[in-house]
Formats: sequence, C-alpha cells, structure tokens
Amino acid sequence: MEAPSLSLQTFDMVIFGGTGDLAFRKLLPALFRRFVDGQIAGGSRVIGVAREPLTLAAYRDLAEAALRRAVPEADPGQLRHFLNRLGYHALDVGADAGWTDLSAVCTASGSRLRVFYLSTPPALYAGLCRRLAANGLNGPEARVVLEKPIGHDAKSAAAINGAVGAVFPEARIFRIDHYLGKETVQNLLALRFGNVLFEPLWNAAHIARVQITVAEDMGVGTRGAYYEGVGALRDMVQNHLLQLLCMVAMEPPASLDPEAVRTEKLKVLRALQPLRGSDVARLTVRGQYTAGAAGAGYLQEIGRAASRTETFVALRAALGNWRWAGVPFYLCTGKRLPERVSEIVVDFHAIPHSIFPGVEGAMAPNRLMLRLQPHEGIRLGLMGKYPDSDGMQLRPVSLDMTFADAFGLRPRDAYERLLLDVVRGDPTLFMHRDEIDAAWRWIDPIEEAWDAVVEAPFAYAAGSWGPPEARLFLRPGESPGPLPAAVRSTTLN
Ligand code: NAP
Repeated sequence: MEAPSLSLQTFDMVIFGGTGDLAFRKLLPALFRRFVDGQIAGGSRVIGVAREPLTLAAYRDLAEAALRRAVPEADPGQLRHFLNRLGYHALDVGADAGWTDLSAVCTASGSRLRVFYLSTPPALYAGLCRRLAANGLNGPEARVVLEKPIGHDAKSAAAINGAVGAVFPEARIFRIDHYLGKETVQNLLALRFGNVLFEPLWNAAHIARVQITVAEDMGVGTRGAYYEGVGALRDMVQNHLLQLLCMVAMEPPASLDPEAVRTEKLKVLRALQPLRGSDVARLTVRGQYTAGAAGAGYLQEIGRAASRTETFVALRAALGNWRWAGVPFYLCTGKRLPERVSEIVVDFHAIPHSIFPGVEGAMAPNRLMLRLQPHEGIRLGLMGKYPDSDGMQLRPVSLDMTFADAFGLRPRDAYERLLLDVVRGDPTLFMHRDEIDAAWRWIDPIEEAWDAVVEAPFAYAAGSWGPPEARLFLRPGESPGPLPAAVRSTTLN
C-alpha cells in the first residue's frame, strides 16, 4: 500500500553533479519512486550536469543501471518512461564557458518552476550561483538546493551563504539535511505536538537525559580524501545530530509554518552552552578506528602514516534555558561501529517512591526511543505487572510502533519527501542560513580546543562500539559495556 499522494506542478530539476554518487544512489531513485507514484507531472524534466562528455544515451544507460540497483522491483515500462525524461548537459560549472547552452536547455521549457540541485563539491557552490545569475537563471521561477557540507567553519559557511544569498533570496534557498526528511523525525513533531501526553513531561523536571546516536558500520571507503581534515564533528554533528537535537528540544511552534518551526530550532541552537577550553577535554571524547574485526583502520584506508582526524565523537551538550537546564544531551556518532543505527533515546526520571516491595532495583525508568534507521519506529518503555506471578511482580514492557506495520506503508526515503518539498516550495524541513551559522559557532570552539592539544583521538578497533573512554562517559554510573548497550538491549529490531 502506498500513501495517498498528489501530483505537483510541472518542473525542471537540474542536478549539478548528475553523475555523482548522491545523484545515482539517492536523487534519481527518489524521483523515480515519486514518478511511479504519480506525483511527477507529465512534461517534467530532470537534467544531469557534469563535466564528463557523455551522450544522452550513455547518461541514460548509467542512470538505468543505477535505478535498477536502487529499485530492483522497478517496472521496465515505468523505468523507460522515466528515463525518457532525463536529459544530460556536459559543463564545467567552475568555468564561465558553456553556460549559454545550458541556459538554452533550461529556457526551452518556458518559465516553469526550475530547481537547481547543487550536488557537486561545495567549493563550487558560490561560483556556480554567480554563473546562474550571470546567465539569467536566478529568476523568480528558480530555486536552489544546497547539499552539505556548507563550509567547514562559521567563516567559510558565511562566505558560501553570502554568495548564494547574493543571487537567490533566502525563501528560494533549500539547504538540505536528509535526516529531517525521515519519517521518525517528523513523527517526533506529531508525537510531541499532536498528543497531550508528552508535552507536560517534556522538560528537566521529568527527563533525565537524552542520547542521540548515529552509528555507521562503514568506514570512510573512497571518501577518505574528503573526510581527512573534516572528521565526525563537522561531517555529522554540525548538521545531522544538531538538527535532531533541535527537533527534540524546541518549544512548540505556533504553527507548522516554516518560519515558526525554523525560529524555534534556531532558539535551541543559540541556547547550546558553549564548550570551550578545558570543558572540551571533560565533555567530549573523540576516537579513530584502527584495524579490527570489521576491516582496515582509518590510516590504512586513507594511506597515511598519521592523522588527527576523528572518526568517532561523543559529547555532552547542555541547553541554557528553563525547559532543559541540567539535562545532558549526549551526542554520539562514529564510523566502523558494529551496526548502522540512528536513534534518539529519551530517558525519564525514576519514580520518586516505589510501592512495590522487593522490586526497587528492578524498576526501569520510562524510556522513549525513536528509531530513525533501520526499521523506523517508536518504542515506549513502561513497567508492567508480570502475569501469573504471586503478588505484584513488575517487569519492563514496551509499546512498539514500527511505521511499516502501523500504517502498512513502505517508509519513504527521506529524499523522496524533501525533493518534492522543494517543488512544493515548502522549506519547513530545510535549514535557514542562521541555523547553519549558529551550529558552526558552537562547533568551532570545540575544533579549536582539539587543535590546541597534543593528544590524538583515542583508538578503537574497527567493528567495536568506539573507544572504551566513551562508554563510561556516555553512561555515567553504569558499568562499561558497548557504547549503546543500554539502548541496544531494548531497542527496536
Ligand atoms: P561525487 O560522487 O564525487 O560526485 C560529484 C559530482 O560532481 C560528479 O557528477 C562530478 O562529475 C560533478 N562535478 C565535479 N566537479 C564539477 C565541475 N567543475 N563541473 C561540473 N560538475 C562537476 O560526489 P557525491 O558523493 O555525489 O556528493 C555530491 C555532493 O553531495 C557533495 O557536496 C557531498 O558533500 C554531498 N553529499 C553527498 C552524500 C552522499 O551520500 N554521496 C551525502 C550527503 C552529502 P564530473 O567529475 O564528471 O564533473
């Protein structure tokens, strides 16, 4: 069963970087699925742009192979129809030549909605937008989508945002963070603001801690050249984990209006307590994987003898506001961990007094878990009476909801949702320039403090749950076990 969907206005989407990994693995498959679902109106076009001088037929062959990999169940007829909408234009977006031809391709369809998806290395974004404007392609019908990373610190992000903002108004700039397109993240809004149950408890008086974990089982693979010097903090925390934190911690917006939601998220980012100097050593742990059960070490993968780039980071953040004062937010992400799992775990306080004799030690505080991947779903951990026991024996039980089961639907890939939000002109799930700026302003001092010390990241074996130093840090007061052990033992499967 598929979710009901509405057809959208006819559009052209120009994907700069149309032969890249993201285009072939995510963007084209997402567009194809929406096409199959009837949401992409007849006449809409998708035009790949890259430097490689490919013929249209060769580009369509590459796209077909990618779509067959990503959507093995694709109907051959549907696939053919979709491929017929694909165009290709060879262009070096870093140079001035060749833009008139692209402009002619774009304007051939009149003044219909035009989405420029920037999926090239970000260093090209500023010049690319300047050239779009120089060729008259930044008119009111045009929108631009920016992939991460936007800069590597507050200054470089401001330079990119300034250059893009000089030719496109903010309302037509869509900075994508695909985590916000995930069903569970949007369900967090539904859960918090569509029910009366949670909001009265959603504060420091009732919540003891929040842990946001994004664990990857892959190493850097072929992305080593990009990753080296970037690291987990910039690559994952600055965007994905902080955006998730915003969704957990923000105040109820007055409406789902994009401005209302983004304003509340921005307040969260601005309420992050700065981590500087000695705080950084106390409140952060960084690691780098070495050879282990899951494969080669980071240094071997990037072919270097030494590197201080972290492939793992765990840190304790705090928000300086009334709602969250004193509640630790543990953010943790790493590569080459034992499994690929992303989840938000909200631990409530223990009950203040137990009336059940003999079970004090066994009383588990309530825990709300939101699983982003795999198997998107929500689990609420409660205490319940064990059946058939004498007296009152309590055991932890859970209320589970896996979206696929609850609604009988295939959860859509985040890009399916977000690409069509761009076409709809809805920026609610995209980041405002000020959010990028506020996030970098919090990240930069941590990077500076790390740069100022001689200590290298702690080592952890590929396939383990990060450096041992992170375990006690993340679960203070608990015996050290694998990093998200407490999470995993009760997690959604
Ligand atoms: P990629 O595989 O290296 O592809 C880069 C694309 O850009 C290729 O199509 C390349 O084609 C094109 N390109 C590079 N220089 C160009 C130029 N001067 N003019 C025109 N085209 C040019 O990179 P990717 O993994 O797809 O990533 C694309 C963007 O998305 C990056 O900003 C990345 O950080 C971001 N991103 C990627 C992922 C992912 O899962 N892959 C996830 C999140 C964000 P030619 O070499 O033929 O020009």
